[in-house]
Amino acid sequence: MKVFKFGGTSVGSVENMRTVMNLIADGEQKLVVLSAMSGTTNKLVEISDYLSKKNKESALSIISSLEKKYYNVVFDLYATKEMKEQGKHILEERFEVIKSYTSGVFPEHGGRALLAQGELISTALFALLMQESGYNALLLPALEFMKIDSDKMPDSYFIKDKLNSLLKSTPKADYYITQGFICRNDAGEIDNLQRGGSDYTATLIGAAIRSEEVQIWTDIDGFHDNDPRFVENTKKVDTLSFKEASELAYFGAKILHPQTVLPAMMNDIPVRLKNTMNPPDSGTLITSDSKTKGIKAVAAKDGITAIKVRSGRMLNAYGFLKNIFEIFEFFKTSIDMITTSEVAVSLTIDDPKHLNEIIAELKEYGNVEIDRNQTIVCIVGNMISEEKGLAAKVFTALEDVPIRMISYGGSRNNISVLVNTNDKKATLQALSNKLLNS
Ligand code: ADP
Ligand code: ASP
Ligand code: MG
Repeated sequence: MKVFKFGGTSVGSVENMRTVMNLIADGEQKLVVLSAMSGTTNKLVEISDYLSKKNKESALSIISSLEKKYYNVVFDLYATKEMKEQGKHILEERFEVIKSYTSGVFPEHGGRALLAQGELISTALFALLMQESGYNALLLPALEFMKIDSDKMPDSYFIKDKLNSLLKSTPKADYYITQGFICRNDAGEIDNLQRGGSDYTATLIGAAIRSEEVQIWTDIDGFHDNDPRFVENTKKVDTLSFKEASELAYFGAKILHPQTVLPAMMNDIPVRLKNTMNPPDSGTLITSDSKTKGIKAVAAKDGITAIKVRSGRMLNAYGFLKNIFEIFEFFKTSIDMITTSEVAVSLTIDDPKHLNEIIAELKEYGNVEIDRNQTIVCIVGNMISEEKGLAAKVFTALEDVPIRMISYGGSRNNISVLVNTNDKKATLQALSNKLLNS
């Protein structure tokens, strides 16, 4: 059974929901993962932010406009009075939960059950639409099988076991509809797979049911060679290997949640990125095979902090790097880029939660300098560190950009540079103009 995932824009209006229904209803059984309608999760985050600042009035005003929007959706989505009533009933239940957060003490974790309401609404409305249209569609509650552990990592054994038993025990359907993004944590509370996490749900499910293919349907025709939100003249990439796609996703390509590729790679399940508004287009196919050599695409990851530790003693002193790395390990903070010189080491982190504690410990070993607001620009392809002249081309393309760090030769797939976030757009555009489109 194939897994199809549709993102926020794909289910973002009544018209688009109908498009998705017609697209999947081809008689072939599938498991369909849906995001919340576009904009909803952002609104729920806003509500959560206001409530945590005790601004109940602003929270209620957003809830009220969201509620109005959804009642209009229900009115337009269904043909019969009976189904409109059922749709309204779904909304009553969901908005009762949302409103319940406006009274009493707002939970410290920001109300993760509040953030889950977008997917719970979109899937319930969509399953009802399919049923009204005469299709054998059934809702599978993700909260019964999607689970993360105490490290916030998906519990793939639990997911596999629970999902397969659920599929065995529920009546047979042609189209199983489930929620992306949402899950339970090790305490059994409602939680999520981080923003954009519906992609990850799709490949985790694909791995759990040994799906022959996972299709991720979105609002663009596939993986582009650069970020279309910042750069003009980007082009679709026809094929990527799992390794290439996972590096691009990890280093900021928004089209895929950073962890999406891993479950597919580990189980060798092809992932296809497709455009909901243009189904005939072949999209981008991600498999174990890289197919072509050379540079495929670039991506950028913001919110990076660079840390430089300069030690007077590093010259010929062994153990220095081990001591430094142990500090990051202790604070469970992963390092993305590293460069070393004889007397200093520079590295980057994307999670500054324990930065002050890390700095305090690092000071034991030398002078520490911090640069915030950095961006990693990652150039990804096949065998790129072996192709003669390629590094020269990359650095010629970036001749006008001040580069803080360079990582080259760590893998055959990737050259990364660290730039100030203010220079990100210029860096990406220069790579498109002088490297990708030349
Ligand atoms: P969905 O809601 O379907 O998950 P997203 O907004 O999360 O959609 O992802 C699709 C968007 O990702 C595109 O509209 C595009 O603006 C952005 N994007 C960023 N980098 C890339 C890239 N390299 N290729 C394609 N799209 C990209
Ligand atoms: N609705 C969630 C979000 O906006 C998950 C997703 O769209 O993938 O982050
Ligand atoms: Mg997304």
